[in-house]
Amino acid sequence: MSAPAVLVLAGLDPSGGAGLLADAETVRAMGARPLCVATALTVQTTRAARRFQPVDPSLIADAIRALLEEEDVRAIKVGMVGDAANARAIRALLPAGIPAVVDPVLAASSGVPLFSGPPRELLELARGAILTPNVAEAEALLGGSADAGKLLERGPLAVLLKGGHLAGEPVDVLATASGIEQFAAPRIPAEARGTGCRLASAIAAGLARGDPLRDAVIAARWHVREYLQERVPV
Ligand code: PLP
Repeated sequence: MSAPAVLVLAGLDPSGGAGLLADAETVRAMGARPLCVATALTVQTTRAARRFQPVDPSLIADAIRALLEEEDVRAIKVGMVGDAANARAIRALLPAGIPAVVDPVLAASSGVPLFSGPPRELLELARGAILTPNVAEAEALLGGSADAGKLLERGPLAVLLKGGHLAGEPVDVLATASGIEQFAAPRIPAEARGTGCRLASAIAAGLARGDPLRDAVIAARWHVREYLQERVPV
């Protein structure tokens, strides 16, 4: 049986640390097949992002339509979209019956913005999807303090609020209609780019394989922890 397909819509980081290349690597590692559409091009090295250019929304829309027509897409991962026009074009084409994971990318870890437009456009994009913000992204989406439950009330099917950027032991909070669950594990002392991209892609791959969301989240956390473990300085 062939691997289930995941449609990945994300920005191209030519260094491969984050974005589309990292997403494709992750989807394959998790036993699924990536179909990749670039939503934005970035100028980026392994150290930091410098600038970006969104791809034309009609080109993105045509690419999505073509792939959905010809491929048996089982899950969709949306990462960096670049701007509000792209967020809306993608939103209009996300099929109701296919699980989608939306990572609301606003800026690189180095601080360079990767989205131009109001952050609420990304919340709109995540309606009915699994939203995976870090704390800074959750604050920007809510215009206040990060709260997975409050984000869930704004329309996503589920919210995974990632605690990795907080001081101390990192805790991820999963909010769904059935309640709130926390996932904690000791911090791994590694610096790595693209962990948010990889987590969302791994969740999408799990959903494409037919795993329930909770199992997909647990497997994705495991995958990212292994990725970090391999990068602990010796
Ligand atoms: N480049 C692209 C295309 C991304 O999607 C992202 C994050 O999602 C980044 C860069 C930022 O990666 P980092 O947070 O590792 O700087």
